[in-house]
Amino acid sequence: MKIAAIQTHILEHKLDTAFESASARFDHRRHLLVEVTCEDGTTGWGECLGPPALNAAVINHYKPVFLGADPLRTEPLWLQAYNLLRDQGMRGLAITALSGIDVALWDIKGKHFGMPVATLLGGRVRDSVRAYATGSFRRDGVDRVEDIAAEVADYRAQGFDAVKIKIGFDVAEDLRVIAAVRDAIGPDMALMIDANHGYDTGEAIALGQAAAPYDIAWFEEPVIPENLTAYQDVRAGQPIPVAGGETWHGRWAMQQALDARAVDILQPDLCGVGGFTEMRRVADQATLAGTRLVPHVWGTGVQIAASLQWMAAQLPDPPRPEARDPILEFDRTDMPFRQAILTKPLDHKNGAVQIPDAPGLGIEIDRAALDQYSPTP
Ligand code: CA
Repeated sequence: MKIAAIQTHILEHKLDTAFESASARFDHRRHLLVEVTCEDGTTGWGECLGPPALNAAVINHYKPVFLGADPLRTEPLWLQAYNLLRDQGMRGLAITALSGIDVALWDIKGKHFGMPVATLLGGRVRDSVRAYATGSFRRDGVDRVEDIAAEVADYRAQGFDAVKIKIGFDVAEDLRVIAAVRDAIGPDMALMIDANHGYDTGEAIALGQAAAPYDIAWFEEPVIPENLTAYQDVRAGQPIPVAGGETWHGRWAMQQALDARAVDILQPDLCGVGGFTEMRRVADQATLAGTRLVPHVWGTGVQIAASLQWMAAQLPDPPRPEARDPILEFDRTDMPFRQAILTKPLDHKNGAVQIPDAPGLGIEIDRAALDQYSPTP
């Protein structure tokens, strides 16, 4: 079995209403899929977190490592590709690009052996996962507090029992949003807050202290991710558990964050941290550090499917009779190709998502939808 081709597909959709987090403005949705084809016709799909055109350029650089190689040799190929950019890479795009290829190789591995990736990872622990709704970005031309309160009430009506909202703009206004959201969802629904590193240390501590009475499950990316000392200060200075990790790519970056005791909850992204190959190592690192792992998910149905395979096999930590299950980040923002590119959508029912059990990632790609959302050159 040999890899014959690696193709990248940029998906794009212009939004009717732009929205923003504290770190990015979205007037388009753009994501990158990776298609790896073998000489025998077997095809695997992956996805890369981050700017599609830049990830695609790095994938081109990696191609000589993979073309003609046996796709089942995921560990040596990962190392060879990493080594190719180690001196200038190590993090960021060097790893996010590699993640997309690695996920596709695991899809191929599963199809080759006729098993879902979860089986290859060690075996299925669960058949479905609870999902939390991610949304509540700042939208143009509306009252932010009212807009977000109405949005989260809708998630509750759909059956979600957890929601994550965007803050990091302005401490006083963010606190008004948090109060309105807790009022709208009631006392029982879990509420997480994500600042997308919009605060400095003092603001993050002040926000965390003032928001704690609203029963916040975690405080995500309070400060810029490269400043681990600031993370330590936020953890020490306010009572809400601190989460982060979507920008720490590869095991070395993760180890620095874990050694610094930067977070209570580590959030590696399967399509950014280095694919299944690296995610396995990062999960062990988190266990050894005694840090809870909750994957970050921000992408199309391919990334959702990959994350579901990971979470199907994610071991309870700690193991106990009523173990705490992992929770799936379920992006609710406008992205029409998210599910359209799958022949069978991976939707939620009352806030829970079934995990496919077909070989590989367990999905099939709808070629017509892929063409529909691929910008013409
Ligand atoms: Ca986030």
